[in-house]
Amino acid sequence: MDSLRRNQYLQAIGVDVWVSRRAAAVADAAASTATTATSAGAASAATVASTAGAAASIEDPVPPLGAGVAVASVDATVSVGPDSASRVAPPAAPTVTTWESLRAEVLTCTKCTLHTTRTQGVFGVGNREAQWLVVGEAPGAEEDRRGEPFVGRAGHLLDAMLRAIGLNRLNNVYIANVLKSRPPGNRDPKPEEVAACLPFLMRQIELLRPRVMLAVGRIAAQNLLATDAPLGRLRGKVHHFGALNTPLIVTYHPAYLLRTPSDKRKAWEDLKFARSVFRELTTT
Ligand code: URA
Repeated sequence: MDSLRRNQYLQAIGVDVWVSRRAAAVADAAASTATTATSAGAASAATVASTAGAAASIEDPVPPLGAGVAVASVDATVSVGPDSASRVAPPAAPTVTTWESLRAEVLTCTKCTLHTTRTQGVFGVGNREAQWLVVGEAPGAEEDRRGEPFVGRAGHLLDAMLRAIGLNRLNNVYIANVLKSRPPGNRDPKPEEVAACLPFLMRQIELLRPRVMLAVGRIAAQNLLATDAPLGRLRGKVHHFGALNTPLIVTYHPAYLLRTPSDKRKAWEDLKFARSVFRELTTT
């Protein structure tokens, strides 16, 4: 991705791009030695996204890792996980899971009381062979109405954030939530609701086998990592999720970023970090 386009993506997210005079001078010097015309804005973006232009695009084709394959069951897969001996097996699942059977289960689920207030279950969206999985908290009003995650205002910002690192839901990322049903009034999920719903996400992960997971927001991060640690302490590290030990990076929820735009720059750092983790995993 060229720096001009990256600058446009950053502006779409709302990250102010600026550059020190010294860095601008370096960028200008580089630009004047190259034959390509580089605008001041593009130089800024190159400075903000210091690692951005260095490696290949995420959209570069990398073969999927067992993606799209039906799995025998969560239990069966857990038994071959890297640290299965130290883990408690999740509740038994039906013997064969396919995307469509799992989706049907989610849409008809009555395991918690949220089914009485939701319009519909919200399963997930994206490429079922994607190497990236983004996990949010729960559907909001618009998602509940349309049956798709992250389609409201926060969803538009999430799309812009993902685009800035070469991802989009039609192509190379899958997006799901911890809860598949909307909590009334968008309240925080209750522990019993998470307990009922998390197995669905785990089975989605079994099917997808993502190389990297991005947890957006405190609720998703804390529930996936089974911790009460504040989001600030969870950012900037590689965690691992589940029996497949999937690398997991934490960043801010786009709804929070809409309320607190001054943290968009930190979210951009998280996205670059996640991208570098992904590149390391897929190029070594
Ligand atoms: N917030 C979430 O966490 N998920 C959605 O799908 C929408 C808003």
